[in-house]
Parts: sequence; structure tokens; C-alpha cells
Amino acid sequence: MYNVVAVSFGEIFLKGKNRGSFEHKLTEQIRYALKEYKDVSIYKELGKVFIQTKHIDDMDGIINKIKKVFGIVVISPSIKVEKDPEIIIEKAIELFRYLKEKQNIKTFKVNTKRGDKTFPVKSMDFSALAGEKILNAFPDVTVDVHNPDIEVMIDIKKNCYISSERITTVGGMPIGSCGKALLLLSGGIDSPVAGYMIAKRGVEISALYFHTYPFTSERANEKVKRLKEILEEYCGKIKLYSVNLLDVHKAIKEHCREEETTILARRFMMRIAERIAEENGLEMLITGESLGQVASQTMKSMIVIENSIEMPILKPVIGMDKTEIMDKAKEIGTYETSILPYDDCCSVFAPSHPLINPKLDSILISEGRLNVEELINKVYSTLEVI
Ligand code: ATP
Ligand code: MG
Repeated sequence: MYNVVAVSFGEIFLKGKNRGSFEHKLTEQIRYALKEYKDVSIYKELGKVFIQTKHIDDMDGIINKIKKVFGIVVISPSIKVEKDPEIIIEKAIELFRYLKEKQNIKTFKVNTKRGDKTFPVKSMDFSALAGEKILNAFPDVTVDVHNPDIEVMIDIKKNCYISSERITTVGGMPIGSCGKALLLLSGGIDSPVAGYMIAKRGVEISALYFHTYPFTSERANEKVKRLKEILEEYCGKIKLYSVNLLDVHKAIKEHCREEETTILARRFMMRIAERIAEENGLEMLITGESLGQVASQTMKSMIVIENSIEMPILKPVIGMDKTEIMDKAKEIGTYETSILPYDDCCSVFAPSHPLINPKLDSILISEGRLNVEELINKVYSTLEVI
């Protein structure tokens, strides 16, 4: 039935001089989300974006993809027709018949919007006219302007669009409207959720994964790659970096106390992340830390870890319970992948009794036994873009 999808954006962030660039970014996101569909055209008409496909069977799949793109507020499957009053009414009746077969409709109203003022009939008059024709075609329905079972919307722009359904989406802000950040993406449950939440606010994200090959498997890599792909359905292309942290772990194991491993390793992770971010124009880091969840996420641990860098760290799940994070992971579709058993580097080298209240002074003394600069350069040279 439908041959196009009409896409509406949130107005708040689309006002003013940035409108054009946001619309452009959103159009790019939509194009990316639909990359697997052939013969799709995306175009603009009077403040709305439309997605047209030559293959009507693809429509449901296209709608499901578009629902996930941040920055879209509402989508309406629509019938695109010529701007000819007779054809419009004929198609409106056809749509009505189609909807009536699917659901019990007793009342309706027609709502016409005339964006193109050269169209010869005024909105109110056209709604009345179309309503009358529908009443004639379906004698068992009546008009109810206040609380109708369905609303037939006729949107007259360069072309005319007839619709009735308004599908709400995940919302958010268009990617790229709010800066860029680097997500520390492990294979766990929390960091993909954290990335999702920040990307939803319009932040373009890149991701960084630390492994300790050959102590971590190729399958752990695949898992992180898969998580990145799931996130890409919402936030468009994500550049995924990987770094082998093995030399850092070896050095820590050799020169420092076991219970300090996590804190020391995380200080290295932060420094490397900061360096990658700085070199690639990314303004902040993002982690999936949740206060008190594990030893390295107590306030004291966070203070000591973050003391190693200057760049601010966004922690959107900081105040969430594990169960809340898990629910969110299920909702966005990362959970099933996150719970696959392949370990990331931290679990391989995790101490049996990590420090819960590390003291900065003694951590600095331990770190003094390592050649920090040299180690960072060494592991940095393993940087890859996956
Ligand atoms: P997650 O479920 O995201 O793995 P976690 O509960 O296991 O988190 P930690 O292992 O303490 O917690 O990690 C805290 C945060 O540090 C993670 O959410 C992630 O942002 C980052 N992080 C941890 N391990 C890695 C890794 N191997 N590569 C990249 N980032 C990591
Ligand atoms: Mg983890």
C-alpha cells in the first residue's frame, strides 16, 4: 500500500541556522541505516524528509531500521501521489479500505495540510470534500473530529502524501549535533549501553577496545565488532580502534603488587584512550562505569584512575543498577551478544583481591617502577582500526 515513509525531526534543535546541517547529517544517517536496501531514494520536501522505495515489500524492514535512527521524532508510512484532487481522493479511499480491512473503524476524520499554497482548494475545504467521498464509499462509518478511530492525513507539498499511522521512534538528537567522543568498548554489558546513551544525545562516537592477544581470543574481538555493529544501527558508522595491552599487563605483573593490577592497568587504558581521542579530534571519553559495581568503580578507585588523564569522562550509567543496565541492553539489542562468554583483557589479568580503596600515593610509587612513557608508546604501536 505505502510507497514512501515521511520522516519528521524534532523542532527544538532544528531551528535557526544549523537546520540545514542537521538535516544533512540526518539524511546521511538514514542512508547509512538503509545501506542494505536497493533502489531507495531519500529527498526533502518543505521541511520533511521522505524515503521512497521501488520495492514495496521492503517497507516494513525500512521502517524498522528508521525507527532506530537518533534525531527522528515520528515516521509515517505514506502514499505518494500526484497533486491532483481527484487522484488524491481516490487514493485516500483506497487507503481507508485497506485500513478498514485490518481494524474495526467506526469513526474517522480527514486532516489536510496545505504546505503548497498554489494548490487550488483550501485545507478545510479539501478535508470536507475528502470526508464526504469517504462517507459515500463506506456508509457504516461516521465523522468524529474530536476522537476518531483513525485520522486520514493529507499533506500537500510538492507532491501529495496520504497517511494515517504515526510511528514513534527512539528519539534523541541527530548524530554529530553534539560533538565527538571515544567510547571505551569492552565486550561487557555496560559499555555498549553507555555508548548508546551518549550517542542518543547527538554525540558522534568512535570506539576503543583493549585486548591482550594471544591471551584473549579472536572470538572476543568478533564479539566487540558485533556490538559495534548493533550500535551502528542507531548511531551510524563507528570507527573501532583496538590496542593490545599485553605489554602493560606483563610489566605490571613483573614489577607491582597483584592487587594493584586493575587500577594500574586502567590508568594506562585511560592514557592511551586520551591520546587516541586527542589525535582524532574526539573531545571526551565514555565508559560504562556504574558506581560501586566492582572494585575499580568505587569513588576512591575512580579518583585514582582518573588522576592519570585530563580529558573529561562521560559515565552515563553511573547511577544505574546492574538490572537497569541489563534491561536497557535487552531493549537496544546488545545484551545477547554481551553475555557471550569470551573474555576481554581485564578478566584474564584480574587480581583475585583487587584494591577497593587505593591510595594515590602508593599507586604512584608502584607506577614509578614502570617506564610509563615507553610502555605507552609500545602498546600504542599496536593500534589498529578494525
Ligand atoms: P562492561 O560491562 O562495560 O565491560 P564492567 O562492569 O565489566 O563494564 P569494568 O571492567 O570495570 O566494568 O570496566 C569499566 C569500563 O571500562 C567499561 O564499561 C568500559 O567502558 C571500560 N573497559 C573495561 N575493559 C575494557 C576493554 N577491554 N576495552 C575497552 N574498554 C574497557
Ligand atoms: Mg567488562
